[in-house]
Amino acid sequence: MPHDLERPDLYIDGAWVAPRKGESFEQHEASTGQRLGSAAMAGTDDVDDAVAAARRALTGEWGRLTAAERSAAILRFADELKKRGRDTSALVSRENGMPIALSGMVNGFGPAVITRYYGELAAGLDAEDIRPSPTGGDTVVLHRPVGVIGAVTPWNYPQPLAIMKIAPALAAGCTVVLKPPPETGLDGYVIADAVHAAGLPAGVVNVLAGGREVGAHLVGHPGVDKVAFTGSTLAGRTIGETAGRLLRPVTLELGGKSVSLVLDDADLGLFASKILEVSLPNNGQTCHAATRILAPRSRYAEVVDLVTDVVGGAVVGDPLDPATQIGPVVTAAQRDRVLSYVELGRQTARLTTGGSAAGEAGWFVEPAVFADVDNSSPIAQEEIFGPVLVVTPYDDVDDAVAIANDSDFGLGGVVWSADAERGFDVAARIETGSVGVNHYELHINAPFGGVKSSGLGRELGPEGVEPYLRTQSIYRR
Ligand code: NAD
Repeated sequence: MPHDLERPDLYIDGAWVAPRKGESFEQHEASTGQRLGSAAMAGTDDVDDAVAAARRALTGEWGRLTAAERSAAILRFADELKKRGRDTSALVSRENGMPIALSGMVNGFGPAVITRYYGELAAGLDAEDIRPSPTGGDTVVLHRPVGVIGAVTPWNYPQPLAIMKIAPALAAGCTVVLKPPPETGLDGYVIADAVHAAGLPAGVVNVLAGGREVGAHLVGHPGVDKVAFTGSTLAGRTIGETAGRLLRPVTLELGGKSVSLVLDDADLGLFASKILEVSLPNNGQTCHAATRILAPRSRYAEVVDLVTDVVGGAVVGDPLDPATQIGPVVTAAQRDRVLSYVELGRQTARLTTGGSAAGEAGWFVEPAVFADVDNSSPIAQEEIFGPVLVVTPYDDVDDAVAIANDSDFGLGGVVWSADAERGFDVAARIETGSVGVNHYELHINAPFGGVKSSGLGRELGPEGVEPYLRTQSIYRR
């Protein structure tokens, strides 16, 4: 189902409407810098319209559905996403440079699977919850939808990150105003198209791409009951402040600088085979990418050589080519930001491969590795969000854990060990929301989210629906 790349309208109240100010933006292809298409740019008036529509929908037909009927509607939405999956994965690759092999999984396949998961979960959400009272009688605990959700999402995994908010919100009976970013505004229409085709009642899901001011307007809007945000820690702090002032519930999925901790007994062949997958997924533009590699001094030189060989030998190219392992970064600005970190790194560490702009066109950066990196340096502490890895030596396991935890962030991580139990014990000592032993992979049925500056709250798993529900206890005697 090929997608239309010229989208002059916003999706509000179940209809395609022109933005009130008539603004639009052009989107460019990351691998060529050429124009890809254009989309309507929402303004604050459009957000007002969308929030009003979402409020009406809360108490309209959608609000009157039983959990089973809501489940059926969400499953129809999942089917519509699935039909569009193949083309969606290619569209996102063109937008943000994600290699198609990954995009096929996360943008093509993932959204329908996540939606189906929450659609099935929705069917059981009206189960009776009656608890005996210690003093006689009982309490009926009702689980109600929180209300209108303001969802603000980034460009790096645009489809699954939007769906990780919309699907549990719908399962809970909420309605949603989604604001995708301009960098990947076009694929947001896939969600609107699928909602429309699935026949969800008007106003249940509204989709309006726009810039930061529009996001800020949505986050602070009096008609919004909860905010679900994924993006940078910087923006997350601002949004958290707004939510705090308004006492509005908020979920914040923010940045990361996760470790890939190689223990002295690790199978280095396995480690090497997974470097690109766990440390540079989506060209390093991944919140949970394990971009800090920690190696024992006893095997340090070996690890540096392996990482240098794998990263230096990665296939860099057109994200639509299935053989490509590293594509371009999303924009010229992002490329320049990554290159400025490379310059910073050169001052304090040893560049073993890559680090220059690459390609005749588009926003390519040769994937880079820095060795002998002090964990306190900016390239070890700050999220670069591009193909740059740092390797730091450690003395013993306590030292490795201390270095791993000496970070503002705590989102992902991996521990490599030939002894799974030892790996598990070390993994459990890392201050992070999720961590793998000898691999790293998000699971749909397990909560994902950060600690420290990586965020508040969890998405995925049954836990992912809780933020969209509010309880009401009715005491009976
Ligand atoms: P960003 O924070 O600049 O923008 C994210 C979204 O928020 C965009 O839609 C943007 O328009 C909007 N926005 C920005 N400032 C805002 C504000 N003050 N109020 C309301 N909305 C605002 O982030 P980005 O550059 O698009 O994305 C990359 C960041 O996202 C990285 O830091 C990455 O780690 C993070 N991220 C986190 C997760 C996670 O699950 N923890 C997943 C993916 C990406």
